[in-house]
Amino acid sequence: PKPNYDLIVIGGGAAGLMCTSLAAKRGKKVLLIDHNAKPGRKIIISGGGRCNFTNLNIQPDRYISQNPRFCISALKRYTQHDFIKLVKSHGLTYNEKTLGQLFCDQKSPAILAMLQEECRSDDVTMQYQCEISYVHKLSSGFEVKTSSGTVTSSKIVIASGGLSMPKIGATNFAYNIAKQFNLSLIPTQPGLVPLTLSGDKLDLAISLAGTALDCNVFLDKKTSFRENMLFTHRGLSGPAILQISSYWRESQEVFFNFLPDQNPETFLQDLRKNNPKETLGQVLKPLLPKKFIALFLCPPEKAIAQLSKKELAQINDRLFRCAIIPSGTEGYRTAEVTLGGLDTKELSSKTMEVKQVPGLYFIGEAVDVTGWLGGYNFQWAWSSAAACAESL
Ligand code: FAD
Repeated sequence: PKPNYDLIVIGGGAAGLMCTSLAAKRGKKVLLIDHNAKPGRKIIISGGGRCNFTNLNIQPDRYISQNPRFCISALKRYTQHDFIKLVKSHGLTYNEKTLGQLFCDQKSPAILAMLQEECRSDDVTMQYQCEISYVHKLSSGFEVKTSSGTVTSSKIVIASGGLSMPKIGATNFAYNIAKQFNLSLIPTQPGLVPLTLSGDKLDLAISLAGTALDCNVFLDKKTSFRENMLFTHRGLSGPAILQISSYWRESQEVFFNFLPDQNPETFLQDLRKNNPKETLGQVLKPLLPKKFIALFLCPPEKAIAQLSKKELAQINDRLFRCAIIPSGTEGYRTAEVTLGGLDTKELSSKTMEVKQVPGLYFIGEAVDVTGWLGGYNFQWAWSSAAACAESL
């Protein structure tokens, strides 16, 4: 018998909606299924409610994956400019905040409404609050049993995302499908997530909670981010911390340069020469938050000329190469993304189709491709969805 649908898309998030709209435009009959009552809940809360929908500086090296080259093809074929064109065609406007990050002036519900509008077609059926009990491969096509009945399709797209924010509907559905079809998975880990501290370091963070500063956070020469960091009641957060968290592994030291515009070789020597009578607190005041100086760089009341060589060396280290070992991360509860997922070696980078299982596709965050903070993850959702839809 003829299958009910050309395509079943599981997951009505960023990637699933994009894929549905593009497949329908190619004349495919599509069923989109989501277990939530509404689609795109992550789009709604994204970018602080303003949806950082892409970045002007999309580049493959801003994505983390076991195979760093996997994302190149899809990102090249459906670019940030393609998505910007779509946004403009719906009369929406946007602004660049920093570092190429584009935010929607009309807020994130407008981006979701745009995607839903794009999906509007006689060929598209949406089923929400729909639980999936199984996906079976038939001799030709697939059978999906759901809480609203059993349906069949020629092809199936897994767009159910990663594990971050279970409260708004994240599940391990994609990974279970991968296991069912014997596909290899890269171990998952929370990414773009605040780091936690313990002991003295936590006490210090609590005393400084709410203090933000511009700094350079790094693990090594290659992996470093210059952005704001923020002290919190649990430890460290802010964009610089979220960025480094995706590269950080348990018990690894994280380094901080709190004066990224100063030269570590000469900074304190120059102060000693030019401002010997002033205290460290006085000279650092224009450069760092007062509370941070007082709590972190004692003794701030000594005149610079009176500081011993050892004290100067210690202060230099604390200012330019302060090492902290976080106790962990805040986990999937607050993580913006999930690192790892379906191993890209299982997929065609042109189409996102599983090499061993023709007709089965994985797109979006379910795949082991994780972008930096700043619109990179949505762009991966759009680009991987487009690569898949184009091939149908
Ligand atoms: P999702 O958007 O997560 O969609 C998955 C869908 O599948 C959901 O609708 C879910 O309900 C459904 N689903 C899951 N399990 C099942 C199941 N078992 N059965 C049926 N349906 C299921 N990225 C950016 O680029 N810019 C930002 O500004 C940004 N802000 C963010 C803010 C927050 C707080 C968070 C958590 C993330 C943010 N991200 C941002 C990341 C971005 O939201 C994700 O990378 C992106 O949504 C991934 O798209 P996706 O379609 O793969 O998955």
